[in-house]
Amino acid sequence: RFLEWENSPYKDRIPALKARLLANENPYGPSEAAKEAIIDSVSMGNRYGHKQAQELIEMLAAKEGVTPDHIMLGPGSSDLLEKVGITHFLEGGNIVAADPTYMSIINTAKSFNAEWKAVKVKENWEYDLDAMKAAIDDKTKLVYICNPNNPTATITPADKIWKFCEEVADKKPVFVDEAYLEFMEPEEQKSMVGLVNKGKNVIISRTFSKVYGMAGIRVGYIVALPSTLEKIEHMVRSNMGLNITALHAAIASLKDENFVSDSIAKNAECRSYVCDELSSMNIKYVPSQTSFILFPIAMDGKPFLKEMFDLQVGVRAFQIFDQSYCRVSMGTMTEMKMFMEALKKVIA
Ligand code: PLP
Repeated sequence: RFLEWENSPYKDRIPALKARLLANENPYGPSEAAKEAIIDSVSMGNRYGHKQAQELIEMLAAKEGVTPDHIMLGPGSSDLLEKVGITHFLEGGNIVAADPTYMSIINTAKSFNAEWKAVKVKENWEYDLDAMKAAIDDKTKLVYICNPNNPTATITPADKIWKFCEEVADKKPVFVDEAYLEFMEPEEQKSMVGLVNKGKNVIISRTFSKVYGMAGIRVGYIVALPSTLEKIEHMVRSNMGLNITALHAAIASLKDENFVSDSIAKNAECRSYVCDELSSMNIKYVPSQTSFILFPIAMDGKPFLKEMFDLQVGVRAFQIFDQSYCRVSMGTMTEMKMFMEALKKVIA
């Protein structure tokens, strides 16, 4: 199973980083519209944000092509990954998910003594959907898919995932984490929300943390069958973790399409710069369809992280299939140049 080298020994050094490329944040956010909305709404902080939550839900429902009862908001999608995790794994069981993948819901499941049935990704980094299907058994409480996947940055073609969900969701709930959907190539950018409209028990998560640049403001949502959301709400309250300024920021962000297209374009520019630079160093990076890149490094993750942090460049390191990898998030072009400079020194 893959291993992530912890950044924790360097946590105190994160604020001093010159290039902060370790959490797949969007360096351009929040949008000007979101910032203004936050300032304007501070004085409403004495009120609960029920009305604003409803307004945001209605906007998201229109965007996703569902009715409002298909949407649940949360302070970031992490909160909803946890809520779905808590409500599905209270009695243990198992979760079927790829290896490697994003660990949030798997860790929640494991804390309730559920087993992670880890299915290795294929050599080309695509999900092995046949093996995942075969791993499902009587004890499976949920199947988790993250597309594009984290930490690999790769995708499994949308049509294959659609077919998988269509079949599997009749037996078990399928959670599809679409945190990075907007960064995918347009022809691959197909959300699984359409399956919910077909009555399938698929739970799709989206976030304002990535393309909208609001990681610290905390808004995310899931789209699912009303019956699934009712079950979750029966056990945990949904809207009470939301704050009124974040809701206003999300509403303003949704209206600001230029900010989104600008972020996507700048991300693509940095991604292409880093890929070219890595190629010129003969490093075979993993093809990315998102806002970060994974590539192999010829040294252990632990000393690699230390040396990069010493140069004030924050990244992450993983051990996957006996190979060390660096995961670098796309920052500004200035940060990416600093990153390349540091990498060349450390690898040399
Ligand atoms: N899902 C994936 C795949 C992520 O990479 C992240 C954050 O990095 C999240 C969910 C959680 O994001 P947030 O809680 O900020 O919405």
